[in-house]
Amino acid sequence: MKIAIPKETIAGERRVAMGPDVVKRLVEAGNKVVVEKDAGKLSFIPDEKYKDAGAEIASSATDLYRDATIIAKVRPPQENEVKALPEKSVLVCLLDVLRTPELAKNLAEQKITSFALEMVPRISRAQSMDVLSSQASAAGYKAVLLAAASLHKFFPMLTTAAGTIAPAKVFILGAGVAGLQAIATAKRLGANVEAFDIREAAKGEVESLGARFVEIKLEEETATEGGYAKQVSQDTTALIQKTLLKHVSEANIVITTAQVPGKKAPVLVTKPMVEAMRPGSVIVDMAVEQGGNVEGSEIDKEVEINGVRIIGPVNLPSTMAIDTTMMFGRNVHSLLKLLIKEGELNLNFEDQIINESCVTHDGEIISERIKEMLT
Ligand code: NAD
Repeated sequence: MKIAIPKETIAGERRVAMGPDVVKRLVEAGNKVVVEKDAGKLSFIPDEKYKDAGAEIASSATDLYRDATIIAKVRPPQENEVKALPEKSVLVCLLDVLRTPELAKNLAEQKITSFALEMVPRISRAQSMDVLSSQASAAGYKAVLLAAASLHKFFPMLTTAAGTIAPAKVFILGAGVAGLQAIATAKRLGANVEAFDIREAAKGEVESLGARFVEIKLEEETATEGGYAKQVSQDTTALIQKTLLKHVSEANIVITTAQVPGKKAPVLVTKPMVEAMRPGSVIVDMAVEQGGNVEGSEIDKEVEINGVRIIGPVNLPSTMAIDTTMMFGRNVHSLLKLLIKEGELNLNFEDQIINESCVTHDGEIISERIKEMLT
C-alpha cells in the first residue's frame, strides 16, 4: 500500500506528518512510503534521511499522489490541495472541521475518506494516537520559555551577595494538557505557580505538580461527560473574572490556555485586570487563535498595555518541530496500525476510534457531529 507524505503548505508550518523512524517501520511492514521533496526540511530532516529509512522522494504532486491509498498530513488541505488528492484515498490529518465544517463538503465531493486527528476520542486505547496532547504539551512548554525570555526578572529564588531575589509568580489559566505542561515547566525553572481551571478534576492534577489550585465555587455544570470543559454562562464568567483579579494582579507571568472544543475561547483576563498588573509583567495568550482568553491580545503580535506585555503566539508546536514532528508521526502511526490489517485498508466503523474520527467516506459526510453543524 502506498502512503504519501506531502510538504505542508500553510505559512509558518514547520512540521511534517512523520519522521524517518515511522517511515522505516511502515516500510518494514511492507508499505511503500513516498515523501514530497523537502517535506522535512523545516523540521531539519533532509530528504536523505527519509531515503535511508526506505522512502521514495517525489518531486511533484502528481508523482506523490499517483496510486496513493493513504495521505498523512499535519494541517488541513487547502482547496486546491483537496482537488489534487486521488479519489477514494484516505486522508489523515488535523482537519480542524469543528471550526471549518465546509471542508467536509469538499472532501466528500472528492470522495476522500478523511480522518480528523482532533476528533480521535480521548479514551485510554487511543492515547498513543492523541496528537492534541502531544502537540499541546510542546506548546505549554514553549509558552513558559517565551514568557521567561520576555520577563526582565529571574524565575527562581536566588540568595546572592547582592541580596535575596524573590521567585517569579506564575499564574496558569486552564489546566488541561498545555496548562499542566506549563505548570511543570515553570516549576522546574523555580517559579511559584498557581493555576485555575473550571473542571474540578484539574485540582488534583495541578496539586500533584506542586502548584496551588485557585478554587472558585461555581453553581453550574462545568464539564461534559467526556471530561471536557463546557461553555459557561456570562454570570459564571463574570464571577471567575472577579475572583481571578487578585491572582492576576499579583503575578509576574500569566499564561492562558483555556479552550472549549468547537467554541470561541472564554475571556478570562479583562483589560482592567491587565491594567492591575505590575509594569514589566508578561501574559502569553495561548488561546489567541481561538478568539483569545485575554482582552487586547492579538494574533502573532506582542501588545503592550501599561507596561504589561501580552504575547499572542501562533502555532507554538511548529516552533518545536524537531520533537513535535517525531511525536506527531508516532501518533499517526498508531492510528494507521488501526486502519491497516495485513497490508490492506480495513475500516471497521464499529470501532469507536474509527467511528468518531472519520468525517467523510464514500462521497458522504458520515460524522454526525459535522452533519449537525452543517444543518
Ligand atoms: P482544551 O485544550 O480543550 O482546554 C484547555 C483547558 O481549558 C481545559 O483544561 C479546560 O477545562 C480549560 N477551560 C475551558 N474553559 C475554561 C474557563 N472558562 N476557565 C478556566 N479554564 C477553562 O483541553 P485539553 O488540554 O485538550 O484536555 C481537556 C480534557 O481532556 C482534560 O479533562 C484532560 O484530562 C482530558 N484528556 C484526556 C486524555 C485521555 O484520557 N486520553 C488525554 C488528554 C486529555
